[in-house]
Amino acid sequence: MRRIVYCLDRPSVRSTYRVTLVADPTQYPVLLCNGDRVGEGTLDDGRHWVSFSDPIPKPTYLFALVAGTLEFRSTTHTTNEGRRINLEVVAAPELIGGAAYALELMPEVMAWDEAQGGVPHDLDMLRFVAIPGYPDATEYHGLMFFEPTTLLTDSAGYTDDDLVPIFANVSHEYLHQVRGNRVTVADWQQLALKEGLTVLGQHDFREQRYGASGRIQFVIDLRRLQFPEEITVGAAVLQLGVTDPAQLYTRTTYFKGAEIFRMLRSVVGSTAWRQAFVAFIERFDLGSAGVFDFVNELRTAAPLQAEAIDGVARWFSLVGRPVVAATTESHAEGVLTMSLTRTDSLGDDPPVFIPIDVAFFGADGAAIEVVEVGSAGLAHRSHDRAVSAL
Ligand SMILES: [Zn+2]
Repeated sequence: MRRIVYCLDRPSVRSTYRVTLVADPTQYPVLLCNGDRVGEGTLDDGRHWVSFSDPIPKPTYLFALVAGTLEFRSTTHTTNEGRRINLEVVAAPELIGGAAYALELMPEVMAWDEAQGGVPHDLDMLRFVAIPGYPDATEYHGLMFFEPTTLLTDSAGYTDDDLVPIFANVSHEYLHQVRGNRVTVADWQQLALKEGLTVLGQHDFREQRYGASGRIQFVIDLRRLQFPEEITVGAAVLQLGVTDPAQLYTRTTYFKGAEIFRMLRSVVGSTAWRQAFVAFIERFDLGSAGVFDFVNELRTAAPLQAEAIDGVARWFSLVGRPVVAATTESHAEGVLTMSLTRTDSLGDDPPVFIPIDVAFFGADGAAIEVVEVGSAGLAHRSHDRAVSAL
């Protein structure tokens, strides 16, 4: 957009758009832009035109247009308010045969997001477009772009593995609907707000569909991709001194950002999390916010956990990750005493918190019922290093 017209190119500055695309119909038979189609016609010189109106104010980075020889396959989604939205997968004629899986997923992820308290998609049309050579995928408002293998199967044949990036990208881009599009980031340094929450939503959707084992792939990605990046790049999730957004598109922003939000959810519990999420969207809908605006909503929803929330939120600004050692101190008469100790060398002033879930399994792999978990030593922070378990 900034190459087309003068504009205030910031994620917090929103405008409504009315766009008319004019082109040679033999070269560009299909013209698409954000929003709803409100007019079309042919000029005296033979060129055709299509007008689009996007009444939802959006920042420049969510503007998109595409023109070419394109075909589409469609389905519909009915929102929880009873509004019908047309969904289209758009691609070149030779690719469009692989649209079925994405079309199956789109209404599913939309319904799932609405059930989490998300605002339903706000236009009558939502298009996912396959663009050969496009880097990954982007959540442009109502007209999202995807590298073809992240949206379409190969109609000549595919395996389950080929569906993994489609599942990940279709859910990720749609989940930006509220996590980034309805609520944008106050500035690019707050990128983790939209990407961390969206990656977390994407993984929740995967676990809902495939069970708790859906988390395994995320942990693999975190260890394989984010851990080494954090060592070599040495940057925290929030880099307040960085002004070039390109430097912020890292695995740390996405994966570790999601993991910190997930820890915060472990601290407050799912009920308070949902309450905070809904309150956050209501407060900032069609506006912009930062990571700590969300943290503040959590503090409001779970005031008794404020210290723990702040303790976990410090991870947003800290480079590195915790190492926790668990050792058995005694085990007799059905009472197991263990100590959990931080063994990393991260700074602890003020202390950072780590929520820890505990479960026990017998040698046969069966879960052992735990009658009571005491945490006196931890609660009183009897260790020299500040260890906190919740
Ligand atoms: Zn994203």
